[in-house]
Amino acid sequence: MHEFSLVESMIGLVRESAAENGITRVSVVKLVVGRLVMAQPELLRFSFDVLKEKTVLEGASLEIEERPVMMRCRGCGNSLYPEYVEFICPSCGETLEVITGKELYIEHYEGDS
Ligand SMILES: [Zn+2]
Repeated sequence: MHEFSLVESMIGLVRESAAENGITRVSVVKLVVGRLVMAQPELLRFSFDVLKEKTVLEGASLEIEERPVMMRCRGCGNSLYPEYVEFICPSCGETLEVITGKELYIEHYEGDS
């Protein structure tokens, strides 16, 4: 379950940042996750609830924004929203590049000092 290690490093980053900024209680963490990261939101939430115990994030809630996969053709500029990565444009046969879907970052977090 790679969600657990994703959340572990995310919590690590928030804890570091909170310590640097004198924040003693984090209330919300907002995470942006692309579909290609293959992380299930319910597993992210579960991991978050387990890992936040006894940290500055203990009372925090997790908001997750999922980003769809968007690909664009290098040839004709066609945009596609496939379920998974595809490599060849169905219209012209040129190669496709991933525009969105690989995101994984903390958009912001809120807390009190
Ligand atoms: Zn094309």
